[in-house]
Amino acid sequence: MSLTENRPAFVRTHARGLVLAVAAAALVFAIMAASGVLAVGYAVLGFVAIAAAALLGVRGDDKIGKAQPPAPTPRGDDPLPAIVTGLADPVIAVGRDGRVLAFNEPARALAPALRVGEPVSLALRMPELAEAVVRAFAEAAPQRFQYSERVPVDRWFETVAMPVEHAPGLAKIRPEPGKPELVLLSFRDLTPLRRVEEMRADFVANASHELRTPLASLSGFIETLQGPARDDAKARERFLAIMQEQARRMARLIDDLLSLSRIELNAHRRPDTSVDLMPIVRQVIDSLQMLARDRGVTVNVEAAGALWVLGERDELVRIFENLVENALKYGATGKRVDVTVARGQADGHDEALVSVRDYGPGIAPEHLPRLTERFYRVDVRESRAQGGTGLGLALVKHILNRHRGRLTIESAPGAGATFVVHLPIVERPASQ
Ligand code: ADP
Repeated sequence: MSLTENRPAFVRTHARGLVLAVAAAALVFAIMAASGVLAVGYAVLGFVAIAAAALLGVRGDDKIGKAQPPAPTPRGDDPLPAIVTGLADPVIAVGRDGRVLAFNEPARALAPALRVGEPVSLALRMPELAEAVVRAFAEAAPQRFQYSERVPVDRWFETVAMPVEHAPGLAKIRPEPGKPELVLLSFRDLTPLRRVEEMRADFVANASHELRTPLASLSGFIETLQGPARDDAKARERFLAIMQEQARRMARLIDDLLSLSRIELNAHRRPDTSVDLMPIVRQVIDSLQMLARDRGVTVNVEAAGALWVLGERDELVRIFENLVENALKYGATGKRVDVTVARGQADGHDEALVSVRDYGPGIAPEHLPRLTERFYRVDVRESRAQGGTGLGLALVKHILNRHRGRLTIESAPGAGATFVVHLPIVERPASQ
């Protein structure tokens, strides 16, 4: 609401009326003196008394006008709602009486019960908020506080109650210094930041735990070799083999962690070299032939011919290595792995599809959305027994993000698993 003062016009009209009254009195007294109804002396005295009273009346009105300005009248061109609407974060303007003056759409999404003219505490029932508004008015200084919501989902906000002393549209001719006209409540959603913080903390805890396990095993064996097994040649051989495996596991974990952080650092830079996927897939399958033989699995390849994509060769090798290795490790009971390289379409764009299908135990549906999370494993013991770090599919996802590609997974318990890599196709470069 905006207010204006109309005092000068009021005073002008009033004074004009008094001048007319004094003139009329002068005329009446003149006629009465001339006609002999009143002695000239009394007529002059009467006129002077009336004129003096009129003059004092004007002064008195003037003083009253100064102490009590006429009631402010609202103006239709109030800029406050327009300004509040133009802000991206949730914002609510609250008047001195704690009632809502204006709010924007993001604020409505935050507190659907908000209504202009109603107390803000009805829509946002938080004692901290009410206190912050009261303090912001009383101290004419910004107040900050954080709060969280549990329902329907966990969310965290930082709220600032900012006093506004001379609000546009609410300005009086003489605003009272140090007395805010309104308080602007703004809300910053801290939920994504909190989530990233939590993820980072989880990640550090997980990585430390993964490294601590082989490290504890190594120090245990060292102690045994220094003590009870000092002269036991057979035990020494066995323990050294286990220690070597634990050291390899630590090295694999560190290697995967470093790869992950390197890929994340480059996540925003899409590779710009054209590479043919077919030789990369063939190279990976050749390099894993030993493992396939070990596990008694036959790997079949079906290829469409050359398929060019923009990619980092080493990173693409890492993707297919992880997927084929997982199929050989976790799907070995199916005795067969099919790798298909084909051309497909998504949203009207050509894409390269590389699918790795195994006929093993498959994966229950509740695990599928979480498989690409770091350190997520369906069965931790099985993964460790297979030499897994729990970072393979996370690496695949990050590399694909960088390549503007994606991974889809289809599986059902007992029916094997199919992991499909989707990558945008580019024209074959002229020089190749
Ligand atoms: P890991 O190092 O444990 O293999 P990954 O990120 O590569 O980590 O895989 C995560 C988990 O997904 C594995 O621990 C395993 O439980 C499951 N998984 C991956 N591939 C398959 C598959 N082909 N069949 C069944 N389970 C699989």
